[in-house]
Amino acid sequence: MNDVNEKKLAKPLVWIDAVLPFQLEGSALRGRFVRLGASVDTILRQHDYPLPVAQVLAEMTALAAALGTAMKFDGVFTIQTKTDGAVRMMVADVTSDGALRAYAQFDPEGIEEAKAGGSLLGRGHLVMTLDQKLGEERYQGVVQVENDNLTKAFQLYCKQSEQIPTGLIVAAHRGEDNAWLAGCLMIQRMPREGGQGGMPATDTAIEDDWLRAMALMQTCTPRELTDPSLPAPDLLFRLFHEEGVRVYEPVALRHECRCSRDKIAGVLAGMPPEELKAMAQDEGHIAVTCQFCSKTYRFDVDEL
Ligand SMILES: [Zn+2]
Repeated sequence: MNDVNEKKLAKPLVWIDAVLPFQLEGSALRGRFVRLGASVDTILRQHDYPLPVAQVLAEMTALAAALGTAMKFDGVFTIQTKTDGAVRMMVADVTSDGALRAYAQFDPEGIEEAKAGGSLLGRGHLVMTLDQKLGEERYQGVVQVENDNLTKAFQLYCKQSEQIPTGLIVAAHRGEDNAWLAGCLMIQRMPREGGQGGMPATDTAIEDDWLRAMALMQTCTPRELTDPSLPAPDLLFRLFHEEGVRVYEPVALRHECRCSRDKIAGVLAGMPPEELKAMAQDEGHIAVTCQFCSKTYRFDVDEL
């Protein structure tokens, strides 16, 4: 990766809808900082979710972007929750070239209860799937979701499935112009590399570095995470200047749905004719709405 510390920048960088990888020098800690603006706002405007649903889905999308873009792969990284709270299911996926999409399913009555202190997510599972574009490699990891805590489930996944202790903070809210903003800061404790020369760090020193970084991370406010007027490197330097922050090339993120008329026609063509007839509405039409982007595709039963 190229060092793009600010003094060397030839042009100003955009700090929204991007992920900024960074490293805390002097300790084996690396991180990623995600800020979402138009991408997450577009995702949420495609639906009419109640506020608590929109907020938790925005947070999940930012978490998916942080984790998904940290993996080296060519394909799609998908995260799905299935829980017993008011938000029954959420799906967010990110492609290796930075395309995001997401949707949620919820129980409207449960949302009212959640607003009055009931459980929004409750308990259940978080499933991560990595689909590689080439070949059949399909990796899945499952962790438990407890007590509405999505961030904790993500941290558990990193620790259990990838053996990487991970600290995460996330925030989402509507900005002054009513548009959604989301931010996520992730720090990972990488396995120690051998053969680098010099004195190896002691376990105590590594643990101290980790605890100090976690404590500094917790001083970041939800507003700082999402504030579009606060450039991402400035926030990282504000939080971790004593650790020495090195930022790398940011990666652009965007909203993009991968649904298409051809794909849906292909799925319908594989269904038994009697099932298609049962789906048909007046005048032999079938309407299929993409759950991610809410786009509706109409087909003639006869053309399938
Ligand atoms: Zn779609």
